Amino acid sequence: MSTIAWIGLGHMGAPMSGNLVAAGHTVRGYDISPACVEAAAARGVTAVASAAEALEGADACFTSLPMPAHVRSVYDGPDGIWAHASTDTLLLDTSTVDVETSRWCHDESTARGFTFVDSPVSGGTAGAEAHSLAFMLGGAPADLERAKAFVEPMAGAVILCGEATAGIASKLVNNMMLFVSALGVAEGSQLAEQLGLDPKVFWSVANAASGQSWPQRTWYPVPGVVTTGSADKNFDATFSLDLARKDCSLALQAGAAAGLHLPAAELALSQFEQLVGEGLGAKDTMLITKLVTADGSL
Ligand code: NAD
Repeated sequence: MSTIAWIGLGHMGAPMSGNLVAAGHTVRGYDISPACVEAAAARGVTAVASAAEALEGADACFTSLPMPAHVRSVYDGPDGIWAHASTDTLLLDTSTVDVETSRWCHDESTARGFTFVDSPVSGGTAGAEAHSLAFMLGGAPADLERAKAFVEPMAGAVILCGEATAGIASKLVNNMMLFVSALGVAEGSQLAEQLGLDPKVFWSVANAASGQSWPQRTWYPVPGVVTTGSADKNFDATFSLDLARKDCSLALQAGAAAGLHLPAAELALSQFEQLVGEGLGAKDTMLITKLVTADGSL
């Protein structure tokens, strides 16, 4: 069994690190929020007070951080990972960041003698709890095999996507497709209501027919239909509008750099921005359903 450093114990980091503990590893966890450290400690994570302390004796170091700027600051600088890790510690970032930040992590890690694997995840907080996340790994082939052994206790699927940044590029495209599907689910759920359909019955129809999708199965935005979404929980976030806005704009940045037109993703981003502008960024992504109803109520 290994010793693992975990930096960032939020919605995803807490259950993911808890699953490594359940698999028998020692996990030393750090977060700037003491409440998050405490919640992870309740899952068996050893609470520590700095990244440096988390890295003591670590065979691997995971990060699960909100934005690209957080990843850059946690890696770099006098209190950062590169300053305190051993070059034997495998570095894995599970955060969703832009391809350039991930490339920077790879290049700067290599220049300092470290091994870095981009390791983003899909499956949401439900997948994190159920250790059924899809991991998308990018790096040199031997490094991916090494990473696979560490991520397996948290994963339902581990996909070796290819060389450096292939994992994060896959993640950005995947999430852009998710957001476009989510718009359809938001609209369909409300049209079904207005046509007088029983929501559970309509959900079963879509699930067995061609309207089926991941947000339809998992995030259906009508109360009483799925337990994995937010509709029964006052649209408190399982995946926040702030994160959706970030991921969608990162995908659009990549699309613009490639000279593509992505009108459906642009529409999704404009809806996320509208709700974030109303102060709802911490609420769930499926709150976009509110923009479908005639009076903005759900
Ligand atoms: P979160 O905001 O709940 O957790 C991030 C944690 O990082 C917070 O607890 C925060 O206090 C901590 N943090 C910030 N700066 C720090 C620092 N300098 N040092 C230590 N800790 C620091 O976010 P989340 O929902 O857990 O998502 C984490 C990452 O995973 C994001 O990049 C997100 O896009 C990605 N992701 C999230 C989901 C999801 O469903 N929530 C799914 C897939 C991927």
